Amino acid sequence: MAKIDRKFSKELKKYGAFDFTSCYNCGNCTAVCSLATKDEAFPRELVRLSALGVKEEIESSLKPWSCYYCGECSSLCPQSADPGELMMSLRRWLTARYDWTGLSGLLYKSVPVLVGAMLLMVAAVILFANYKQFNVKEIMHFGHLFEMYAIATVFLLILLPNILRMWYLTVIRPGKNPPFTKYFKSAGVLFLHMFTQKRTLGCDDNQRRWFEHFILVIGYLTLLMMTVLLGWMGTENIFVIVAGYLVSAIVFIVTADFVKERIKAKKELNRHSRLKKLSRHSRPSDWLFVIWLFLMGLTAFAVRLFVDLDIINNNLWIYLIHLTVLVQWALIIVPFGKWTHFMYRSFSMYFQSLITENNKGS
Ligand code: SF4
Ligand code: SF4
Repeated sequence: MAKIDRKFSKELKKYGAFDFTSCYNCGNCTAVCSLATKDEAFPRELVRLSALGVKEEIESSLKPWSCYYCGECSSLCPQSADPGELMMSLRRWLTARYDWTGLSGLLYKSVPVLVGAMLLMVAAVILFANYKQFNVKEIMHFGHLFEMYAIATVFLLILLPNILRMWYLTVIRPGKNPPFTKYFKSAGVLFLHMFTQKRTLGCDDNQRRWFEHFILVIGYLTLLMMTVLLGWMGTENIFVIVAGYLVSAIVFIVTADFVKERIKAKKELNRHSRLKKLSRHSRPSDWLFVIWLFLMGLTAFAVRLFVDLDIINNNLWIYLIHLTVLVQWALIIVPFGKWTHFMYRSFSMYFQSLITENNKGS
């Protein structure tokens, strides 16, 4: 029998959910949601399970990951239960459940902890620069090493175990065990969603959002490869330099537009009289992701420009800002923040295709 946790709704509210317990099952949200099928009353079913506190069932669900928060359901909810925001809160809660360190939950729930962690990174960069006596060459060399090793370490120690936990909770524990060969057969689904965020195309009004998601993923990965593998910050190869400028400019222009569109969409949602009070429930961690992506593109661009103008030696501050943004990004936002949502969304599509394939075969 499913276990009920009566405190679950209180817990979810700490992750940003609104008054979802006021839902009276009218079904408007399911009628309007493009993810609902004749067998699955999405998102109404998850609203009901959340209100009841059936944690284990929610934990094993991949469904919250397919919602891209178009907001249609929230604008039609007569009870201001805001099912769209509930799906977003479930994704944050699931992120915390998958994370073995427990830090994701802490950073989502407590703004002072998040601000404290970000400030700690600022202090660490300043102390390190002081330790290196503000030697530009040595600090930039360290920055390059950090780019290389931080990514690998975060992936091996945090992201990989968390993906395995997600797999255990959503595929293995519910007893859906697909045969080994299906993992290979469905691998294409994982890469397709990871690199194209194809699921966003399912949202009728969202072609622009899909395109921006796509450009950001590709742009970010290219910038990462250019700085880590081709040493863009210090190289003298003209092709790499020009390509790096282009990619970083694209990353920060598209991110700026992405932020602008998000603010516009939020205003649209809040214009709806029933939903005015919902605007208080945005999480700072969600904004950090796009703002820091923007800062990464901008500061990387500026550092390379300072190198090319040969003024970096007298302006170490620009590299220290870039390094701070990079360290905060790599050690807080990527392993514990919104960045993981991109990863979990792709894996949810992969696990779902494994389960579907397995069901077909059985
Ligand atoms: S539209 Fe609102 S009240 Fe109706 S089922 Fe959905 S969440 Fe519940
Ligand atoms: S916000 Fe999510 S649950 Fe609501 S209509 Fe859009 S896709 Fe469906």
